[in-house]
Amino acid sequence: MSLIVQKYGGTSVGSLDRIRAVAEKVMAVRGEGHRVVVVVSAMSGETNRLIDLARAIDPVPSPRELDVLLSTGEQVTIALLSMALESRGCPARSYTGGQVHILTDSAFTKARILEIDHRKILKDLDEGRVVVVAGFQGVDAEGNITTLGRGGSDTTAVALAAALKADECQIYTDVDGVYTTDPRIVPRARRLDRVTFEEMLEMASLGAKVLQIRSVEFAHKYGVRLRVLSSFEAGEGTLITSEEEVMEHALISGIAFSRDEAKLTLRGVPDRPGVAFEILAPIGRANIEVDMIVQNVGTDGLTDFTFTVHRNDYEQALKVLQKTAAELGARDVLGDKQIVKVSLVGVGMRSHAGIASRMFGALAREGINIEMISTSEIKVSVVIDEKYLELAVRTLHSEFGLDAAA
Ligand code: ADP
Ligand code: ASP
Ligand code: MG
Repeated sequence: MSLIVQKYGGTSVGSLDRIRAVAEKVMAVRGEGHRVVVVVSAMSGETNRLIDLARAIDPVPSPRELDVLLSTGEQVTIALLSMALESRGCPARSYTGGQVHILTDSAFTKARILEIDHRKILKDLDEGRVVVVAGFQGVDAEGNITTLGRGGSDTTAVALAAALKADECQIYTDVDGVYTTDPRIVPRARRLDRVTFEEMLEMASLGAKVLQIRSVEFAHKYGVRLRVLSSFEAGEGTLITSEEEVMEHALISGIAFSRDEAKLTLRGVPDRPGVAFEILAPIGRANIEVDMIVQNVGTDGLTDFTFTVHRNDYEQALKVLQKTAAELGARDVLGDKQIVKVSLVGVGMRSHAGIASRMFGALAREGINIEMISTSEIKVSVVIDEKYLELAVRTLHSEFGLDAAA
């Protein structure tokens, strides 16, 4: 008998009626003879509401306590969904992450799953129940509640699918698949029937929040068949799969963007070996991740050094950098929070030269200044002023032939 793991996101369980509708969908799949494990998120807006409550008590709340608080959102939906199933005559049982031993490391608010004990789940399935598991949460070796980072329910679902060797992991959300770019920004974005793990990984890490990055990593590593579908309309959705299974490669599969960026520049630092290390080591020690880095050609023994960080880390990075600037005798420190990153992604780039210059040309024609650039085998990213975000994404979407027919 086949086993399917389904995950329903916040909007999909955003009201009691929607939870009832999820129950009906789950029962329909079960009626077709599948065993079903369901992972649910908190009701839409709930995780944000809980974060606001915590911050109102303490602007920098204890990460451990934050996780205790945030995990409650998902505990509400697992119970309500199980009740909805049982009231319809479908045997069901809900479990928190800890109850099914989703063992994680102890990195509160961004924990990684290490192990899942699936015995209890298999037993329930064998006894004919639907198993409903709270997304986004686990427990560390000491029994502390942990959470997996925003969007983490996707990862719970894929990790369960891998552990249970499920036939498919279905991510139900408020769009009917993965699109060439966020359909909320570009109405003419097209749904992709298939996308490779590599492309999806790039899209997710470059800002497309439709799947959490780690869920894609997990699916790739353990060969989980992963599909993104709509909770509200029927359809095949998008299958995330290996490169061999994607027949036709478009040059560009998608455009991702991220508003969560900030840029810092250290001007007039001595241009000598070790400077990059001296600048970035303290940033690393402060646990701040650096994304793009540019060092200018030096003149008169001095150079400028620019890098980007997550916007949430901006204030802290600025503080660290000001200290470094004083130590190195740098001229000054500049910061800019009004920047965004726009990226083209596509495995087709491997065999085609000139993608980057075509991208730069299209942006230039719209008068959009590029502040930083970074490339890899299957992506080109640029940093631009945030006021040009939508224009840039739309321009590139048509330039690379991604627009749906009008
Ligand atoms: P859920 O609550 O179901 O987990 P999310 O809000 O996390 O849903 O993810 C779905 C959202 O991702 C969509 O509403 C859409 O706005 C956004 N999104 C961004 N990029 C893309 C893309 N390339 N394809 C589809 N959706 C995207
Ligand atoms: N509720 C969590 C969040 O809002 C996890 C998830 O929805 O995937 O980030
Ligand atoms: Mg999500």
